[in-house]
Amino acid sequence: MLDKVLIANRGEIAVRVQQTLHTMGIATVAVYADPDATAPHVAVADEAYPLHGHAAEETYLSIEKLVRVARDSGAQAVHPGYGFLSENPAFARACREAGLVFIGPTPENMEVMGDKLRSKEIARGAGVPVVPGSEVCDGVGPQARAFAEQVGYPLLVKAAAGGGGRGMRLVQTAQELPEALEAATREARAAFSDGRVFLERYIARPRHVEVQVLADAHGHVIHVLERECSVQRRHQKVLEESPSPALTSELRQRIGEAAVAVAREAGYLNAGTVEFLLDAEEGRFYFLEMNTRLQVEHPVTEAITGLDLVAWQVRIAAGEPLSLRQDDIAPLGHALEARIYAEDPYQGFLPSTGTLRHWRPPSGPGLRLDSGVAEGGEVSPYYDPMLAKLIAWAPDRATCRARMEEALRRFIVAGVVTNIPFLRRVVAHPAFRQGAYDTRFLEEHPELTRPPDDAEARRAAMALAAWSARRVGAAPSAATGEASSTDRTSPWRLAGPWRVL
Ligand code: ADP
Ligand code: ADP
Ligand code: MG
Repeated sequence: MLDKVLIANRGEIAVRVQQTLHTMGIATVAVYADPDATAPHVAVADEAYPLHGHAAEETYLSIEKLVRVARDSGAQAVHPGYGFLSENPAFARACREAGLVFIGPTPENMEVMGDKLRSKEIARGAGVPVVPGSEVCDGVGPQARAFAEQVGYPLLVKAAAGGGGRGMRLVQTAQELPEALEAATREARAAFSDGRVFLERYIARPRHVEVQVLADAHGHVIHVLERECSVQRRHQKVLEESPSPALTSELRQRIGEAAVAVAREAGYLNAGTVEFLLDAEEGRFYFLEMNTRLQVEHPVTEAITGLDLVAWQVRIAAGEPLSLRQDDIAPLGHALEARIYAEDPYQGFLPSTGTLRHWRPPSGPGLRLDSGVAEGGEVSPYYDPMLAKLIAWAPDRATCRARMEEALRRFIVAGVVTNIPFLRRVVAHPAFRQGAYDTRFLEEHPELTRPPDDAEARRAAMALAAWSARRVGAAPSAATGEASSTDRTSPWRLAGPWRVL
């Protein structure tokens, strides 16, 4: 078994991975860029090493520095978290060559399944339906034209190496196609150093349903149920839940078996996620892509199964056989996750930076917070603006939703602007309450990203005023109810920029 592991990441996921390692009796090694010297992921580690620098390229993306620290610290293994180098085969290979166990899939798995075109081949080979798409398109040749004619418009241009919602373009007409192909190629080259793009049929109102899989080194593959991630903004997930409100038990079984078949066909190792687009009305699903890493939203799966997915990643990487059988996966209740970002939902989700003057997360029955920040800490512009994830669990979906709404209401942050009020409005929306939403939900409800009316704003402002005044020992100016931290007469302007609207 392993006794010391380096975590090649930062923020909430570095904290969360360390928590499991410590409970397994494994020592942890953290790494940090200059702005993160006092961050929680450093504070909770047994050892921490500086990466020297600010930008991700010279710190959390530096394979050379990370491998050197792993060796110097005497760690036997590396956990990559998600984002950064987690899906980079060169990193997994560098670890292997340095004699370090990489806690994740093989570099070969990443190469094949991290490529949207190659992974679709694998899915087809496994007999799983895929979203209809073309081969690589080098400009608008006969191939692109033929495909476009065959499937019709609108269609999507996608980067083979794309991820994180980037490298995707919706094309409405044939006239737009040449430019879209060119622009997507350029963007893909810049973002992923790989300019290959292809066309895909645009599914009109899909739901995003993904399946968690676990595969050991002894040929045993299981799935750990699904997650519904259809609340998206710009093709990026905002809220996730499990079970999916859209699946019948028959569909659930079929989609789970399809995910296992894909993982098996790929010779996949460790934890991964097979993503599908679901046409709920037709009861049909299509393989979309595979993510060869731990997913941001893995806690909803943990909440309904009681499993620790990071612990399973570690055991699998250490060569242990998966002792879980498919029949052991018995879900209980319902879970929801909300991603808490330092960004202003009412100003185009502009990232917000500054000092976290107040950070008061809620607690209570069925709540979990995976956080990478602490009160007094700095939110810097250098990395992803996700601060934390709030997970609610309850025996049924309605109670879970209500718990999430109340928890978001009680979540107090000052110093940076967050998307919390936006999240609260999303979970309160009638379509969300009913579980009747698809990937176009946010796009079709632009009112959710407009500042709410005065009455709601005032109530929220007064709630923070009362709370904040209690904290600094001064009475709020109840008469004004002004929600502005720049008001010079305000006793709580010390809180810095904040907004509760
Ligand atoms: P998940 O599917 O786990 O919810 P996301 O797509 O939201 O993951 O991505 C998780 C993190 O990884 C985000 O910070 C995202 O920006 C980053 N990410 C995902 N794929 C890529 C990629 N191909 N290149 C760069 N960053 C990526
Ligand atoms: P990424 O690698 O960025 O996660 P995905 O291929 O997983 O890219 O797609 C992200 C999201 O974009 C999906 O969850 C879905 O909402 C939307 N999307 C992707 N492909 C299609 C498609 N063919 N039709 C409709 N929506 C799509
Ligand atoms: Mg995806």
